[in-house]
Amino acid sequence: MTQLKLYNTETREREPVIGHTVKMYTCGPTVYNFAHIGNFRTYVFEDLLRRTLKFFGMKVIQAMNLTDVEDKIIKASLKAKLPLHDFTAPYIRAFFEDLRTLNIEPVEFYPRATEFIPEMVQIIERLLELKVAYRVADGSIYYAISQFPSYGRLSHLRLEDLKEGASERESSDEYEKDNACDFVLWKSYDPKRDGEVFWETSLGKGRPGWHIECSAMAIKVLGETLDIHVGGVDNMFPHHENEIAQSEAFSGKLFARHWMHCEHLLVDHKKMSKSLGNFYTLRDLLQKGYTGAEVRYMLMHTHYRIQLNFTFEGLSGARHSLERLGDFIARLQAIDAKAKDRGEVGLLLNQAEKDFREALADDLNISVALAVLFELVRKINVLCDAQKLGKKEAEETLAFLRKLDEVLGFLPFETEEEIPAELEQLLVQREEARKSKNWKEADAARDKILAKGYLIEDTPTGARLKKKR
Ligand SMILES: [Zn+2]
Repeated sequence: MTQLKLYNTETREREPVIGHTVKMYTCGPTVYNFAHIGNFRTYVFEDLLRRTLKFFGMKVIQAMNLTDVEDKIIKASLKAKLPLHDFTAPYIRAFFEDLRTLNIEPVEFYPRATEFIPEMVQIIERLLELKVAYRVADGSIYYAISQFPSYGRLSHLRLEDLKEGASERESSDEYEKDNACDFVLWKSYDPKRDGEVFWETSLGKGRPGWHIECSAMAIKVLGETLDIHVGGVDNMFPHHENEIAQSEAFSGKLFARHWMHCEHLLVDHKKMSKSLGNFYTLRDLLQKGYTGAEVRYMLMHTHYRIQLNFTFEGLSGARHSLERLGDFIARLQAIDAKAKDRGEVGLLLNQAEKDFREALADDLNISVALAVLFELVRKINVLCDAQKLGKKEAEETLAFLRKLDEVLGFLPFETEEEIPAELEQLLVQREEARKSKNWKEADAARDKILAKGYLIEDTPTGARLKKKR
């Protein structure tokens, strides 16, 4: 059996993933706007990782948190004059819709920061006891990184190199810190800044810092030691470094065995930003007529440790690749029942499966895995051209593609759930009209279905809808 090996940011080595159950924590969205395609690159990568672990026979228990209280959210909710929950709810809903559009598998847990305040308080109390945390004059509490000797080990930064002005998310009101890189655990309430957002706790009236949220949720939901912790590369420092410092000082145990980080997405070789006019949410791309599968393909097809340069030509390329795969699937489905098997496909499928598996085992080498798929398509198309593909072999090939799609999640199979509910309704109307010999109504329903690009297929078990090709 091929051994799955994944690059570990901390050790800078490819390491085998051991064990049958993998506890995986992935830093999720900050829900104050629609997630952009850079965010979704990371979530699609995490989905590929999850599906690959399962493909290799492992059980995955995954938590993806939702950051629903944090500086930017509070600021935006005050501006919108909405209570925190009312402000975040539509973005949370939109996020889950977007996950479905991209065919990202639901994970086991979606903890929300606001539901874990007692756990955060408990960790901070312990850190105060251990003198790893300290309180400043306004009542806020900071983590003293000088008390955590291995600080910087994940991102390979040395403490002495961390200078004033290092990228620190909560930097605005930190003039009282002992060290420039100390970070806030608890923010004492400030009515002007926080509006109505506060919790009355044993630590005082206030709210948590961003970093402590992930430590508390990860430990509570998955336990003190995670198998894999994943996030975007921009979270490596300081966020993940701070998660390690908080969690390990609290538990005395290793926080995560394996760290994985997804590289940035650039647009036309530039950092995506609203001011450059190259900022895209998933919704922007759907509005331009692209599908979730096309965006998924585009986001996934570059190896996760390489920067992905997004262009519309690239997205059209993804569309073209999916069309090729769709044509291939349709061709296999149309193979005549009388076509005889020649025994040439079995070997091709076995070799392709082995190569596909090996590619993924090599730190999720998706480009090689896709090349294996397209090479298989090419070879089987040659067999089809020569009329050397039998019905049973076509079915075996389709079954094999479905298996690969457990990992890829973008192959254009037509599944029943893709058929819009209104069309299913029209089909029922047509059937009923036919039963009562109301031909005019039956024809009208049929025409509406055809106009939407679907065909009605009569099968022994009744009529069903099929997308027109
Ligand atoms: Zn996090």
